[in-house]
Amino acid sequence: MNISTSDDAARWRGRGVIARYRAYLPVTDATPVISLGEGDTPLIFSPRLSAKIGRGCEVFVKYEGLNPTGSFKDRGMTVAVSKAVERGAQTLICASTGNTSASAAAYAARAGISCAVILPAGKIASGKMVQAFAYGAQVVAIDGNFDQALEIVRQLGARQDFAIVNSINPDRIAGQKTAAFEIMEELTDAPDFHLLPVGNAGNISAYWAGYEEFVRLGKGRRRPKMIGFQANGAAPIYRNEVVVRPETVATAIRIGNPASWAQAKRAIADSKGMIDIVSDEEILRAQRWLARAEGIFVEPASAAPIAGLLRASEQRATAHFSGASIPEGSRIVCTVTGHGLKDPEVIMASLALPKPVAPNESEVLRAIAATQS
Ligand SMILES: *Cc1c(COP(=O)(O)O)cnc(C)c1O
Repeated sequence: MNISTSDDAARWRGRGVIARYRAYLPVTDATPVISLGEGDTPLIFSPRLSAKIGRGCEVFVKYEGLNPTGSFKDRGMTVAVSKAVERGAQTLICASTGNTSASAAAYAARAGISCAVILPAGKIASGKMVQAFAYGAQVVAIDGNFDQALEIVRQLGARQDFAIVNSINPDRIAGQKTAAFEIMEELTDAPDFHLLPVGNAGNISAYWAGYEEFVRLGKGRRRPKMIGFQANGAAPIYRNEVVVRPETVATAIRIGNPASWAQAKRAIADSKGMIDIVSDEEILRAQRWLARAEGIFVEPASAAPIAGLLRASEQRATAHFSGASIPEGSRIVCTVTGHGLKDPEVIMASLALPKPVAPNESEVLRAIAATQS
C-alpha cells in the first residue's frame, strides 16, 4: 500500500488517523474505530517566518488547532478511546490542563460512554472548559495543579472502573506519532528541525517515535533535530528539576513534573536537539505576531516554538538556537498545538472593546480612522 501521493492521501481525508495509518497503530479488526476525522491538518508554508530566518530556509507551521476539538490531543485520543472501548471500558478518566479533557469528552460522547475529567481549579482556559461541559463530561475541579490531578488519576486508574486516557497511556503516544508521518509524506522526508512546545512531554516523544519508525521502515531517510520549548516559569526539563509551583500564561504547558520526562530527554539527545525556554512576554508577542503576520491564530502554549524561532532570527548575523546555527536552506517545522479560540481571555485582557458609534457612514468612517492611529 503506497500512501505517499496526494491523490492517495485524499482517499483518507476526513476518515481519521486510524483509517489512514492502521498498519502502524496498535489496532486489530476487533478494535472498534472511534473517530471524529482527526489528523490530516495543514502544513502551512510561512513566508514571513521563512524570511526572518533567511538564507534560503523554509519554515512550515503544522496547524494542529484544526483537529476536531481544536488541539493535537485528538490524534492520540482516537486510539486511546478505541482501545478502551475494545477492552470494555465504561468510563474514561483524565487529568487535564484543558485540551485533553475537551478531547476525551468528545471521543467518549462519540463512543457512547462516560468521561470524568479532573482539572486544576481556575487554571483552565474558558474555551476548553466550555468544551468539557458541552460534550457532557463529569467535571471535577481540584484545589491543586495539573501534576496533583494526574497523581489522583493514576490512583483511580488502578481501580477497574476507569480507563486512563492521559498520555501515560501508550495508545495516546501511538496516535500522536501520526503527525510526524503526515509531515514526512508531505515534505517527502523529515525536516531538519522540528520545534514544538513541551508540557507533559508526550508529544515530543510521540513525534520522535514517528520519525524513527518511518526511517526504520525506509519511508524516509532523515530525522530532524527535536527542539522543545518550555515556559520560563514551568521548565522542569530545561532546569533538570521538578517545579513545585509551575506558572505561565501558557496553561497547556503549565506542568512541573512531566510524565514523559525520560522519553523526551531521549528524543532530544538521540536527535541532537535541545530544550530551551521562552518567557511569557515572548510567548504573547509570538502569538500576536503569528496571527498578524501569517494569519494563524494559536493558543499561548502553541506560540512557544514560534517565540523560540523569532528569538533565533533576531540573533543576527545568522539565526541560531543557543549557539547552534541554523544551516543555509534548512527546513523547519513548528507544531502549533492548539487553536487560538481556546483561550479568548488572554486576548481580551489586552483589548479595549470599541465604544458604539452612531449607525451612519460618516461616524463609522471616523471610527475606522480613529482605530488606525
Ligand atoms: C497538551 C498540550 C501541549 C503540551 O503537550 P505535551 O504532550 O504535554 O508536552 C502543548 N500545547 C497544547 C495546546 C496542548 O494542548
